[in-house]
Amino acid sequence: MMPWPVVCGRRHWPCVAEFESHGCGARLREPCRRGVALSRLRAMALPVEKWEAHARRKWASLEPCLQEKLSLAVPLGDTFLLCLPLFQPADEEFLHRLAVTNWVGKDPRAALFYKEEGNKRFQKKEYTAARILYSKAVSHNSPEMSLCYANRSAALFHLGQFEDCLEDIDRAQAQGYPDRLQPKILLRKTECLLLLGRLQEAAGVISKVESKIAMDQSLSSTTRQILLRKVSQLKVKAHEKESSPLSVPEALGKTQKDLEFWEENGKISSASSSVNLNFNSCKGRHLVATKDILPGENLVKEEAFVSVLSPGKSLLLQDSPETTWDTRITNGDLHCHRCFKQLLASVPCGGCSYAKYCSKKCAQLAWEHYHSTECPLGALLLTLGVFSHVALRTVLVAGFAEVSSLVKQFHGDDKELYKTEARGKSLDETLDSTAGMEGLSEKAKSLIPGCEDDGQYQGSYQAVFNLLTHAEKHSPEHKFLCSLSIVAICKKLLDTDLTILSQESCESQSKLRAHVKMSAELSPELKILGEAMLRHMLQLQCNAQAVTAIRESESGDSIVADSEQVCLATALFPVTSLLNHSCDPNTSVTFSGTAVTVRASQPIPRGQEIFHCYGPHRCRMRAAERRQRLLCQYFFECRCQACLDELGSDVTGIVATRDIFCCSSCHASMQGEDVLRCSSGACTLLVGRDYLLHQLWDLQLQVKTALGLLQDNQPNQAVELLMRCQMDAENFLSAEHMLVGEIEDHLAQGYATLGKWQEAARHLQRSIQIVEARHGPSSVETGHELFKLAQILFNGFAVSEALCTIQRAETVLSVHCGPQNAQVQELQEMRACLLELPRSLLHRVE
Ligand SMILES: [Zn+2]
Ligand SMILES: [Zn+2]
Ligand SMILES: [Zn+2]
Ligand SMILES: [Zn+2]
Repeated sequence: MMPWPVVCGRRHWPCVAEFESHGCGARLREPCRRGVALSRLRAMALPVEKWEAHARRKWASLEPCLQEKLSLAVPLGDTFLLCLPLFQPADEEFLHRLAVTNWVGKDPRAALFYKEEGNKRFQKKEYTAARILYSKAVSHNSPEMSLCYANRSAALFHLGQFEDCLEDIDRAQAQGYPDRLQPKILLRKTECLLLLGRLQEAAGVISKVESKIAMDQSLSSTTRQILLRKVSQLKVKAHEKESSPLSVPEALGKTQKDLEFWEENGKISSASSSVNLNFNSCKGRHLVATKDILPGENLVKEEAFVSVLSPGKSLLLQDSPETTWDTRITNGDLHCHRCFKQLLASVPCGGCSYAKYCSKKCAQLAWEHYHSTECPLGALLLTLGVFSHVALRTVLVAGFAEVSSLVKQFHGDDKELYKTEARGKSLDETLDSTAGMEGLSEKAKSLIPGCEDDGQYQGSYQAVFNLLTHAEKHSPEHKFLCSLSIVAICKKLLDTDLTILSQESCESQSKLRAHVKMSAELSPELKILGEAMLRHMLQLQCNAQAVTAIRESESGDSIVADSEQVCLATALFPVTSLLNHSCDPNTSVTFSGTAVTVRASQPIPRGQEIFHCYGPHRCRMRAAERRQRLLCQYFFECRCQACLDELGSDVTGIVATRDIFCCSSCHASMQGEDVLRCSSGACTLLVGRDYLLHQLWDLQLQVKTALGLLQDNQPNQAVELLMRCQMDAENFLSAEHMLVGEIEDHLAQGYATLGKWQEAARHLQRSIQIVEARHGPSSVETGHELFKLAQILFNGFAVSEALCTIQRAETVLSVHCGPQNAQVQELQEMRACLLELPRSLLHRVE
């Protein structure tokens, strides 16, 4: 009997989409874990609460006339200069105390602690946790660095990461790995090389081990025997490899070329030739289709101008001891500080324990471009939040020359208060609002804010500088907080021991250094940088884009792996920023490292505007709530078609019609405001809304408990609890309620974990119906659910159904995420696997 083909032992379980603008102030619209309290993420972007409160108190204590002056100061340079003397030693001291909790220095005692914790995990065979702890250990310098690298190489070996294991072995040796332990590590090296099919190198290492063993007089006879036995075993392995014809396990790299059609726009960098940049006074800058666009077509492929990894929510390692050393795991432990690649064998920054990189190259590039300045400011930047950090990095990446030329140009331009807006108005008069750039004179084109003199829109610093700040719309308190934070950074730049910069210098660094003078007063150069940073910090509220990634949970050995979407970083994409918002967008956004891709999610006829959703989506919120959020964060009143339809007539939004309560005796819908009445004439049931909301809250808690059980690998208990939840839900929720869908989804996960594929498929199909009804059959949310169903059917041997679901899932997901997407690739592997089955198996009935 042929064994059941499994593409990958662990199945992924992408969480179903339930998603909002997360309060961190960055745009984000892709599926995320259902029901996450997104407001928690706010802390990542803005300064820590205590500093925010301190700034608020300080603001309240200012003389009214000073408050007024600050509120009126519109050129940001003035705001910055007014705040400069207000930042007193007491404030500095306060901030310093807060920053201590975010200490990012190096301490040999920490290295020792993390190494020992890593060893404990290693002994329990928790290799991923061990690897992360050893990585924390190597980011603190200690005399035992070589041992930490060697131990991490062992963890990587067990995780099957042989290339990275080899790198760590080299690092251990470069750090002076003790001679008496050499045979051990060299044997590991041999094994890796054999597994990678590098036989000649392996043979070379084996003879090195043999001579080491022969020469070392200090070895006890038992150790010597053990080592020699191991050597002979490896020799046999090597011989087998040699005699077996080829079958070198080639790393399954993505050899496939990017086959997606792409023709870059001649006028707008990173945008497709199918779009055009338009401008008018009510829409501002926006992109319009110049031809009929098909679903899945790439519209923008852009590298971030600047992007900063955010700490994100920290995960606690299970059963971690309470210690002075932080065992929490944040994005900084899991992703490269510069390119966001997932880390295996991280390379630590030489100066701090926070920045970790995927390679020496990334570490070097980061150091040259920004980290040499940021490194000594680590704790302060963590305290002031990601927005302040992005603001600083933006000016570092742009370089002082570029920043100062734009700031000076801005000052020189006849001192108009709302320069961009004023420019816009005059431009509006010179052109028909519907005409594309084709019809514009070169002069008019260069008038569009952010365009170069030749009318080109490049994703350059000039484009970033011209993103709207809405300086006059922010509350004076918020502006004060931002200004004070930027002043704090500038003061710290003064204090910083700049000798660290001289280790490796680059042009921009040395220029900057030359301008930073060791004086109590800020130099004119720092004032320019301060003004620019304040500008960027204010821009971020409306223009920051959250960079997301799908991350698989590192939990246990369950055959079903949870995966969830996480917010990795905050970035500025000047071209993507040209897209206006719609609550019912016609594009989908995906990320790969620091690059964004915007794809058409539906057919877009020629002449139609390209929209992207800033967070509030019509499938997740009612119009009133969406508009309120958009006004609050982005300062505009949404007039998208979905909003106009929902507000203008008696058409109720998707959310309103789906998430309703129903009568416990006859299942008809309940209507009313504070007191709800059954809508069926025969029934007289009356229930208070508060009571129903309380019941809903209760049920949500139960579902959460069940989810916890699933994650703790107790599927039987989880399924039992979820069945009870399902019965409760039937009593008061409509059949299309999102919570009902979630329960079905979790039930499917539970049964899948138990290997009961048929039951799992049945529940998932119910969940898919609900997702389809809410998000539409070709939405990315439905795509994720179909992906799960395909896996269940695949594992459950329902071949023809599986093939059909794979097809549907692939069609939907490749429109939103492109053919290179990991899930799309996995679907293709599953299909290939099913099609290779012998005919007789294909016809086997379930
Ligand atoms: Zn990297
Ligand atoms: Zn550093
Ligand atoms: Zn809207
Ligand atoms: Zn009723």
